[in-house]
Amino acid sequence: MSSLPFDPTPQALSRVDWTGTRAAGLARLEAFLPAAGAAYTRARNTDLGPDDRSNVSALSPWLARRLITEEEVVSRVMACHGFVKAEKFIQEVYWRSYWKGWLEMRPQVLTRFNQDRLALKQTVAEDPALAQRLARAKAGETGIACFDAWVRELTTLGWLHNHARMWFASIWIFTLELPWQLGADFFFKHLLDADVASNTLSWRWVAGLHTKGKHYLARASNIETHTLGRFNPAGQLAENALPLDEPFLQTGPGALPEREILFEERIGLLVHGEDLHPESLPLSAKVVGAGLLHVAEIGPADGAKNKFTRRAEQDACNRLEQAFGVEAPLMASLDEVLNWAVGLDVKEIATPYAPVGPIAWHVTDLKRALADQGIRLVQVRRSWDSRTWPLATGGFFKLKEKLPNLVRDLDRA
Ligand SMILES: Cc1cc2nc3c(=O)[nH]c(=O)nc-3n(C[C@H](O)[C@H](O)[C@H](O)COP(=O)(O)OP(=O)(O)OC[C@H]3O[C@@H](n4cnc5c(N)ncnc54)[C@H](O)[C@@H]3O)c2cc1C
Repeated sequence: MSSLPFDPTPQALSRVDWTGTRAAGLARLEAFLPAAGAAYTRARNTDLGPDDRSNVSALSPWLARRLITEEEVVSRVMACHGFVKAEKFIQEVYWRSYWKGWLEMRPQVLTRFNQDRLALKQTVAEDPALAQRLARAKAGETGIACFDAWVRELTTLGWLHNHARMWFASIWIFTLELPWQLGADFFFKHLLDADVASNTLSWRWVAGLHTKGKHYLARASNIETHTLGRFNPAGQLAENALPLDEPFLQTGPGALPEREILFEERIGLLVHGEDLHPESLPLSAKVVGAGLLHVAEIGPADGAKNKFTRRAEQDACNRLEQAFGVEAPLMASLDEVLNWAVGLDVKEIATPYAPVGPIAWHVTDLKRALADQGIRLVQVRRSWDSRTWPLATGGFFKLKEKLPNLVRDLDRA
């Protein structure tokens, strides 16, 4: 058992207040700032357990919905530590953008995942033995203490440390021999930070499908070291399993959609769960009406993830009202949005760009329906995304080597 590689930090940093508001996200950012430099570089890989998150930011739930933006997190960290000391942390924030850009240029990977996921649900329905193994894993009744504990953490709290996510996915795939797509589905239903790109592609990465033939194998000794001896599943893990393979899937990058521009002087503003910080959207026009498109989240209605989302959406509506001085209704159906848009008497509605995933599918339907009413729905893409996504044509390295330029240009964006 190794000792903690950094000084113990105050209680406020250890305990995370998982409230779905921008204020809670900003408070967590401020609490974590002193630890974002050398301490993060040294200690981030250790999973100290749910009562101590002092060695990582735990900002992912707020970043995933852009209650706080990548740009403000990186800018605050840079101001506090400078690039060199905070490079590791900054790299991690850019990993999120890398996965997004990678998937944006290869939406067929998500299509295949969704087809497989639905087909596998049918397979499970017809295979009682598989259904039982799956149910045991999801109930945290595998007899592998670390895995069972992470299941409880995931299903109650809605959050896991990055290393625990890697071990979890690896044990699911290689030891329990369950389909990775159903593991990704289970994560997505419960994670407060559920993100289509980071989640789907990380599961593919663990399985050995992202970098062909390179998989991630969870080892008991590594788990023991990086949980500071809380767990040691010696003899319980498949530590020599081979990477997964899959039928051919085209993963060459396609083109990114063109950036769209607003032409009108009066517009409506429609936000959604992919970007809940409308105050910082680059808008050139006067907002005469605002609203929020609610897209139902998968996962238990009264679970931590859905509670976080509901709070986050309400928080965004309140901020819309304050920032633009208009009423901001929360709308759950296409018809509601259409009526709202027509009532505004505008020719354009701006909405944050929705990366590939369920919200983007709703936005596409809405775009067509609004066009029938003579209203243009304009997807406004942030310069952060426009500058990072084109760098995700291959491996992360291409983006990583541009990091000094990317962060230097942040002030000028
Ligand atoms: C199987 C698996 C599934 C995952 N699913 C998700 C998901 O649905 N949503 C999600 O946001 N992250 C996901 N991740 C990535 C990563 O585990 C989390 O982003 C990270 O644990 C969040 O903790 P943190 O905020 O303390 O991160 P920190 O270590 O403090 O890093 C700061 C920020 O950088 C980003 N980041 C860090 N590591 C990664 C990474 N490996 N990939 C992408 N972004 C990263 C996050 O936005 C994070 O908040 C997954 C990883 C694995 C292995």
